[in-house]
Amino acid sequence: MTAGRLGILGGTFDPIHLGHVAAAMAASRALALDRVMLVPSCLPPHRAMLSRTSPEHRLAMAALAAGAHPHWSASDVEVVREGPSYTFDTLSGLIRDGQARSQIFFIIGADAFADIAMWSRYPAVLDLAHFAVVARPGITLDSLTARVPDLADRMTTPDQLRPSVAGLQPPLQELEGPTAATRVILIEAATPEVSSTDIRRRVGVGESILGLVPDGVADYISQHRLYEYDSNGT
Ligand code: ATP
Ligand code: MG
Repeated sequence: MTAGRLGILGGTFDPIHLGHVAAAMAASRALALDRVMLVPSCLPPHRAMLSRTSPEHRLAMAALAAGAHPHWSASDVEVVREGPSYTFDTLSGLIRDGQARSQIFFIIGADAFADIAMWSRYPAVLDLAHFAVVARPGITLDSLTARVPDLADRMTTPDQLRPSVAGLQPPLQELEGPTAATRVILIEAATPEVSSTDIRRRVGVGESILGLVPDGVADYISQHRLYEYDSNGT
């Protein structure tokens, strides 16, 4: 059994940017996570477009982003697995490796969570981990109850999980233990309005991406001349 609360942030990460970093930090803080793992996907199954940047480049950039934070890492589990990446498979793998599902927090932006009903193995995938949904500029958390009404019963907030005594480390007891039901935890955080699409567009037209991606990632993009012929970012 691997000890501690593990946050998982999956994505295409084409490229990883400071919006991703902010979402993972917000979840870490709200849920007192012990570790964060960044997991670039192999092929994005819910998107019509296939990523044109190799999984190796996207993994290398995730590793650079993780390197700036203690207790963060990048994982190659999805890029080495054959075929499209499904969160169900990734979470099942962690559980098989001994991670308790009550200690796994799948971090996801509100835009991605709004499409959860279209995911492979929905709703079973929701039983494999807590889902920590972070607001994304333009998509409020309130709108999610209307978007996925079936999940309203599972939804909670970090404040509801924490005892009312201010200043205490949140024990979040309700979330732990072998019989704990997994929850959808809505985290209201102001993450920067950055998207990978906009970064690709900017590089394509020669605009600066300074302050939008971690410094090491900006260097990596220019060294490997990624996105240079990608003028509309799509
Ligand atoms: P693209 O523009 O190519 O779709 P993206 O910026 O949306 O890229 P993804 O790799 O699709 O990045 O996102 C991975 C995860 O990170 C998703 O759950 C997404 O909702 C979340 N996320 C991305 N950017 C932000 C942000 N600025 N704030 C909060 N969550 C974000
Ligand atoms: Mg996206």
